[in-house]
This record gives sequence, C-alpha cells and structure tokens, in this order.
Amino acid sequence: MIIITKPDAAPGSDTFRELMEYLDALQGVRTRVHEVLGAQQTVTEIYLIGDTKSLDIEDIRSLPGVERVVRVSEEYRILGRHADDPRPTHFHYNGIRFGQDTLQIFAGLCAVDTREHVEAMMKALQDNGLTCTRMGAYKPRTNPYSFQGHGKACLPYVFELAGKYGIRVIAMEITHESHLDEIRTALEQTGHPTGVMLQIGTRNTQNFELLKNVGRQQEFPVLLKRGFGITLEESLNAAEYLASEGNRHVVFGLRGMKTNLGDPHRNLVDFGHIPVVKRLTRMPVCVDPSHSVGSRDRAPDGILDIFHVTAQGVIAGANMVLVDFHPHPAKALVDGPQALHMSELPHFIGDMRIAREAYEKRVALASEHAKG
Ligand code: PEP
Ligand code: MN
Repeated sequence: MIIITKPDAAPGSDTFRELMEYLDALQGVRTRVHEVLGAQQTVTEIYLIGDTKSLDIEDIRSLPGVERVVRVSEEYRILGRHADDPRPTHFHYNGIRFGQDTLQIFAGLCAVDTREHVEAMMKALQDNGLTCTRMGAYKPRTNPYSFQGHGKACLPYVFELAGKYGIRVIAMEITHESHLDEIRTALEQTGHPTGVMLQIGTRNTQNFELLKNVGRQQEFPVLLKRGFGITLEESLNAAEYLASEGNRHVVFGLRGMKTNLGDPHRNLVDFGHIPVVKRLTRMPVCVDPSHSVGSRDRAPDGILDIFHVTAQGVIAGANMVLVDFHPHPAKALVDGPQALHMSELPHFIGDMRIAREAYEKRVALASEHAKG
C-alpha cells in the first residue's frame, strides 16, 4: 500500500510525525518513506510493507495528512502501474522530459576512442538538432584482451565537448560503483557542462550489489538494459531494485535477446515487448537497434535493418532510441560493424519522425474507436 501525503504534511511537519506514529504502531506492517523530487514540487510517499491486506483503505484514507492511498500488488511496487495509480509515468532530467509519452534519440559512439571522434559526433548532433548522446567510457568486453574503454581519463573532454555542443544528457554505462564517483568528480571538475544517464548493461542486469549502489543515488537517472538471457519479469524486478533503494528515474531498455533463433541478427529483436513494459510499469521504454541487429545490412527496399527495427520500436511507442554512430566505423575500437555513418544521421532522424507520427496517429485512432 502506498500513501501519498498532502503538501502540508511533508516530513518535518507535526502532521507527518503523527501519521508515522500511527502507521508504525500497526501490527506486522513496516514503513518506508520516499521523497520524489519533481520539477515543481516534492511528493512524499509512504510505503506500507508486510501484512497490509487486513488494513481498511478507507481508514487510512481518512487519516490527517493523507492525500491518496493506492493498493499495490506485490510485483514492481514502486515502478509498477497499479489500479487507480496517480503516480507519474515521466521524469525530468537536466531540462529533458523522459516519459511514456515522449521520444528522445541518443545517437553516439558505442565507445569513446579519440577526442576528435567525440567532437565530430557532438557537432553532428548539434547540427541535426539533437541534445542527447551515448558515449561509452567503461566497456564490458567478452575478451579480456579487447579494448576496455578509456575510463575516467576521457570523461573531462567528453563532458567539456558535450557542453560546447549543447548536449544535455549522455548515456554512459558503468560496470562498477567506483565509476559513479569518477563521473561525479569529472562533472564537478568541468563545472557540470552536461548531464549523465547511467547505463546498466545487459551483462549486469542482475548484478544486485551494483543495482543497489546505483539506486542509492538520485543525482543521475538510470537506463537499465534488459538481461539478454533472462525473463522479462526478472529484468523488471532488476529495475525495481533501483527504485527500492530510492531512485525511480529509470528507463527500461530493450536490446534484443541472445539466441541463435535471431540469426542473422546479433540478437533476437524484442521490441514487441514495448507495450508490455508500458502496461506493467510506469517506466519510459528505450530500444537499442544497434546491439540487437549488430550489422549494417540493408534490405532490398534500400532501408538498413537497423532503421527497420528502430521504426518498428518507435511505431510501437518507444520513448528513447540508443543507437551507435561513428565518424569512421571501420576504425571504431568497439562494435564498428553496427555503427551508422555520420552522413546517415539526417536520414535516421527523418525516418524516426515518420514512425513517431504514425505512432501518434495510431494512438488517436485507438482513442476515436474507444469512444465509439
Ligand atoms: C552498450 O550499449 O554499449 C552495450 C554494451 O549494451 P548491452 O549492455 O545491451 O550489450
Ligand atoms: Mn556496443
């Protein structure tokens, strides 16, 4: 059960203290308080955990300081969508809205290699009106002898260049909690020219200690990639780990499933799950066409497979696209075969616009038919 308090019953007030005294005295019920920092106001939610079945929702609703009460199922308590759940399906970060109703394109380098390539990428994004990117500094590689990313050494110039070209959010994978401090330090040293969305990669979806550490901070939002060899439910529970520790600014990323049944694509494209994730949870949903398809193969209609699957995701309501580009894919140190060329960026954006418009028309059509 979740209690949302009235604005004048925030922690520190007498009403809040009395409410907590009452709740803490309930048999078999524990409480957990979450403060949700919004753009306009801070909302306080009190989670009642344990034996809440016997509680009368009307009794709780009538307590002083209570604005709303939501009875939640056991699954995805914080990030889930529950009956009569008024909690938002979006959040704001560094001036950008991430929601189940918006679309953000994160085009960028799979891995940072040189300063020149970072600058060429950022400039192309600005020239094309984009304000988000992906830049991998810490790369989890299958082979221990492969390039592992430049790590903290590249962060200062990546952040400075992002500021120079008006990039507001960089999606960046971290593989260890110490990377969080390195990112924080580099942002401080460079004067916070940009923002970072921490990415948890598919190989770490169930690294529970990493999830708990990342969940304990609220400074950066998180992009949680679906585990490529586990069920959707298991991956959604991984996202809930982040929220249960305090960070509910989580985007859920579909990136394909590891099975040879997806051949010749690198992974089996799983974007059919976009509506499922939106129905079960309040998270915006990201698609990663690069790591799912894994190649620059083109269909006889002249359209790259990567474009096709991205459009399939966007037309199904995806809210974020994470896509690999590179100024010289042949020279890329990681995932060159799947990187799009810089010259393809305007085409990619145009194609996404068509898919997004089609999605919006489909939503309008569904709403017309629902009325009739
Ligand atoms: C990535 O986005 O760079 C990446 C490694 O993705 P994934 O964890 O989905 O493989
Ligand atoms: Mn990659």
